Amino acid sequence: SADKLFTPVTIGKTTLANRMIMAPLTRSRASQPGDVPTEMNAIYYAQRASAGLIISEATNITNQGKGYSLTPGIYTDAQEAGWKKVVDAVHAKGGKMSLQLWHVGRISNRLVQENGVAPVAPSAIQAVKSSSFVILPDGTPSRAPCDAPRALETAELPGIVADYAAAAERAMRAGFDFVEIHSANGYLLQQFLATGSNQRTDQYGGNMQNRARLLLEVIDAVAAKIGADKVGVRLSPNFVAHDIVDDESEAMTMYLAEEFNRAGVAYLHIAEPDWAGGQPLSDAFRVDLRKQYQGVIMTCGGYDAQTAEARLATGTVDAIAFGRPFIANSDLVARYQQGTTLNTPDQATFYGGDEVGYTDYPVL
Ligand code: NAD
Repeated sequence: SADKLFTPVTIGKTTLANRMIMAPLTRSRASQPGDVPTEMNAIYYAQRASAGLIISEATNITNQGKGYSLTPGIYTDAQEAGWKKVVDAVHAKGGKMSLQLWHVGRISNRLVQENGVAPVAPSAIQAVKSSSFVILPDGTPSRAPCDAPRALETAELPGIVADYAAAAERAMRAGFDFVEIHSANGYLLQQFLATGSNQRTDQYGGNMQNRARLLLEVIDAVAAKIGADKVGVRLSPNFVAHDIVDDESEAMTMYLAEEFNRAGVAYLHIAEPDWAGGQPLSDAFRVDLRKQYQGVIMTCGGYDAQTAEARLATGTVDAIAFGRPFIANSDLVARYQQGTTLNTPDQATFYGGDEVGYTDYPVL
């Protein structure tokens, strides 16, 4: 094979040893109370440091942005200190790491919100086909419906932008190489982008430019604090889960790519739609996106070594992110290089729990 996967690639001012990215993976193992990353989390990520870049699990920028119990945050000193231990452990093994900044918007439940307030969204439209994950008052972990959200006031949006910027500053203090703004998978920023969930009549709703405004303000505010060369963005064109309805998502992606050039965004991370039942991205779209966007493009969704090499060979992307294979194989880079067999991921231990199914998969 061409083995392009194992060649370096530079994002911003940072050179990655290879083009295998560890995808952002929710594992729901932050310590309680406080949603703080732990020593066990540091061991898990450090085990996977041979990836060219590790993207952290989605990390709440505020309590308002939280939708799932046991997921970590980046808005308290304790959380920042916990993440510093994680990043230090990854750097000690020669790895690089990006922190994914998360606000779930309406994909939440009052039980995980401070004082039981309603979740927020662009418009007061409930996600009825999706779910949140909570610890019930009796202590039982459980799926829970997404509560009806309230629409954010226009005057509240600068505060949301500031929350992203503050989280990015904390990420830099913790030592991360990049942050990734999560504008995919049906969460707050994609709720603003999508025609179905954004019914606003102010300058943050309506046409494409207006629906993109919040994301672009977030990018500019984060870049002003930490430098655009440290900023990545995740998008999921054609995504259909979490009640996302959007008849303009490919056109929006093209528009955003141009705006990302203007802002100097270092990388664009595409979450492919197929796993959730969305229409696969067309080759023509991939070619157009590569022409439109000047930074590094990575793509994620069900790839293996062969399909990754094939995608790289088309020249439409620079790197490939792998999710489940990295859960079960901390030494995935070596296994792909050697063409050896892989451990099978155990779905029962994806979320919550301890070392089992987390740090104890066998290595070569
Ligand atoms: P699921 O529907 O079984 O669970 C959804 C969420 O509930 C999990 O992400 C987790 O936060 C929580 N959860 C479930 N069981 C839990 C437990 N025992 N303890 C603690 N928390 C628990 O998830 P799935 O079917 O694996 O995911 C559906 C898709 O959503 C996946 O393919 C994935 O790509 C995507 N996803 C995205 C994000 C993100 O964007 N941040 C996070 C998780 C999953």
